[in-house]
Amino acid sequence: MPDALPTALLDGELIATSDARVSPLDRGFLFADAVYEVVPCYGGRPLRLDAHLERLAASLEALGLGNPYPAERWRELLAGLIEANGSGDLGVYLQVTRGTGKGRDFLPPSGIEPTVFGFAWRLTPPTTGQLERGLAGVTLEDIRWLRCDIKSTALLAAVMLRREAAEKGGDEAILLRDGHLAEGSSSAVFTVRDGKIVTPPASRERLPSITRQVVGDVLDALDLPLEEREIPASELAGMDEIWIASATREAFAVTRLDGKPVGDGRPGPVWKRVYDEFQALKQRECGE
Ligand code: PLP
Repeated sequence: MPDALPTALLDGELIATSDARVSPLDRGFLFADAVYEVVPCYGGRPLRLDAHLERLAASLEALGLGNPYPAERWRELLAGLIEANGSGDLGVYLQVTRGTGKGRDFLPPSGIEPTVFGFAWRLTPPTTGQLERGLAGVTLEDIRWLRCDIKSTALLAAVMLRREAAEKGGDEAILLRDGHLAEGSSSAVFTVRDGKIVTPPASRERLPSITRQVVGDVLDALDLPLEEREIPASELAGMDEIWIASATREAFAVTRLDGKPVGDGRPGPVWKRVYDEFQALKQRECGE
């Protein structure tokens, strides 16, 4: 991931990223008592910002944390952060922690102010070579908790899984739980077999991915039906296509799974149509 850009957002102020300081007693640091969002921006305009702000509100609510800002204020703060960093294509990270207590109480003290931190980085589109090569997926048992629908900063399990996948030569961990596909360690997953496109349904086992919604809209625009059902792990090896979807990787083909080719080992024709239409959707929603 590219370096953080020079200007960050801390508690409503734009400051130099290198000057941003948070107390070690912040509950985000001590307990990962915090939630976050990653919003992709094209030409300086966020894609599906309303959906990201709604998911952020849902994550905050799940933690019993008040939303520090109304949606309009979030929009203003984000616009300021984007502009201060030169606009263009950016990934924007937003984090809200429960705030800083006087010590280390599991039970959150009342009356503390949330900490709000944001920063941005430049999004560089993948090269044609990278798109044609696709990604290597590694299936691993999902060791995360039972509330994966909350976009929590407690990402240790995802970090461990991603490291294990990398040690096995993979770019993404494809997580299995109770014999079925959960999701990627930081992505939603789509599969194609005999022309049928399938993705697992929303549940507490998976993050309600915004890019998954975008891909759903792309499939609608292409008149391609999408089926939502649990996918047995045993079906994965026989898929013609597998794609992952996330805010910063859009829809990316997985061309190898556990060292074996997916389909013919190249990004498939359905993925190619989705990729092209995804670019057109970005242009429609974020273009001039
Ligand atoms: N699932 C997990 C566990 C993730 O961490 C992410 C993104 O980081 C996604 C799915 C994809 O979500 P989104 O499309 O909102 O980026």
